[in-house]
Amino acid sequence: MSDPNCIFCKIVAGQIPCKKVYEDSELLAFHDIHPWAPVHVLIIPKVHVAMLSEVDETHEKWLGKMLLLAPKLMKELGVTNGFRTVINTGPDGGQEVYHLHMHVFGGPRPWAKG
Ligand code: 5GP
Ligand code: ZN
Repeated sequence: MSDPNCIFCKIVAGQIPCKKVYEDSELLAFHDIHPWAPVHVLIIPKVHVAMLSEVDETHEKWLGKMLLLAPKLMKELGVTNGFRTVINTGPDGGQEVYHLHMHVFGGPRPWAKG
């Protein structure tokens, strides 16, 4: 359920601080420590699942809740003009923290040209 070496499990357990924006029994959402956008939130399950390629049917409920939460949080955080959701999976997916998480980027896009 929890991996003692996992940084996001430590955040779930309150052993590492975070700027929390949402919490319930299954999910936690907090600001990314190195934001790539004006609003950059991570939505994670409290249970330790390393990556999206390791989910199964028993995870269906909180997986759905992650997607439902993204637009609610963006609205609460004042994002009115759209946002981007990203789940990096595995080495070729650019994943660095091996506890499943969804990035939600809001505000003007830093990657947009012009
Ligand atoms: P990944 O590349 O695995 O999809 O993204 C991991 C993200 O976690 C990165 O954007 C990184 O800035 C963020 N991150 C890593 N460690 C911490 C931490 O201790 N606290 C917070 N709030 N974000 C973290
Ligand atoms: Zn973990």
